[in-house]
Amino acid sequence: MHYQNVIVGAGLAGLTIAERLANDLNEQVLIIDKREHIGGNVYDYSYNDIMVHKYGSHIFHTNNREVWNYLNTFTSFYPYQHKIKGFVDGQFIPIPFNLNSLYMLFPIRMAQELESILLKHYAYGSRVSIIDIQKITELTFLSQYIYEKIFLHYTLKQWQCEPNKLDSSVLNRVPIIISKDDRYFYDRFQGIPMQGYTKMCENMIDSKYISVQYNTKWHEVKNDIKYNRLFFCGAIDEFFDYEFGALPYRSLEFDFVCFEKEYFQGSAVVNYPNNYDYTRIGEYKYFLDSKSKHSVVSFEYPKAYSQGDERYYPIPNQESQVLYQSYKAKAEKLKNVYFVGRLGEYRYYDMDKVISRALSLFDEIYRDSKKK
Ligand code: UDP
Repeated sequence: MHYQNVIVGAGLAGLTIAERLANDLNEQVLIIDKREHIGGNVYDYSYNDIMVHKYGSHIFHTNNREVWNYLNTFTSFYPYQHKIKGFVDGQFIPIPFNLNSLYMLFPIRMAQELESILLKHYAYGSRVSIIDIQKITELTFLSQYIYEKIFLHYTLKQWQCEPNKLDSSVLNRVPIIISKDDRYFYDRFQGIPMQGYTKMCENMIDSKYISVQYNTKWHEVKNDIKYNRLFFCGAIDEFFDYEFGALPYRSLEFDFVCFEKEYFQGSAVVNYPNNYDYTRIGEYKYFLDSKSKHSVVSFEYPKAYSQGDERYYPIPNQESQVLYQSYKAKAEKLKNVYFVGRLGEYRYYDMDKVISRALSLFDEIYRDSKKK
């Protein structure tokens, strides 16, 4: 069979490109996905009348108005503002660590003193990397405490290595906040699709030009499919048959449990940096403020990725970047084949960045198509 466009992967990257090609260029698109459902890792479904996220909590947040407006054509968003608590020294403190966390964990005099040193170095309201705070001698006690109690053991569980073995961008995702604002994200736009991510994804590709085949692996059909353009949103190392070796990933396992109580915990996500084998527990009814006498939570267990597992995270370090660059160089030599998304570009992307990247790739293609 011949198609104008073939997209491998029905996650946000693939769906965005499919939607643009169909609705802006009126081009025919075939999407294939090895899973039995749409949405990639943002897929959600109703479990005892509560919308749960099969691959873990996804909170949409962005400062990018273009991306926000784009998604708002397929869904409205419930104005949810994410908050995470971390279980540290027997207390549920705000994560990212902020001035409220400081006052919860230390005796008041000590907290006041530490706060005034912080405010000597940083403006009220600033977001500072733990790596920066570690450089300030006066704050050695505090930085060591935060590093040990919040970052070190969580990172060991999540990545199976110490933070300094990862690109600093990983820890910088979670700054220290010099204010009393307990939110996890400070982006201008934030929320949860009102009828869920799955519905939003379905709306994106509601077009006569788009067809989808689930339960279909690329390597099983690639010899039977011809295309003008291929957008590959699967793992780039797999695409090239692991020619230079397998790229490393981290995987996760989720244990979903329904409790016969109205709420299980005090916020949508509670991190357990230092206790248990799971990193966090997500409680889904918070996202859309669902009302019920029961509650569904997921216990999230990080695990090493081995072939056949779900790939959740590329591992951002120097070694994996070197390996990825060899695949990227090879990819760039292919004509009319584009690698997109967390797995295609081997990047620890957030949802909005994936969409933004897919939209700009489409813009390039659109411009080229108009030149011809
Ligand atoms: N992190 C941590 N302690 C926490 C939260 C995060 O050490 O309580 C570190 C950890 O290395 C984690 C990274 O910061 O993988 C990024 O956290 P984020 O919440 O952004 O992870 P995601 O939701 O993308 O899994």
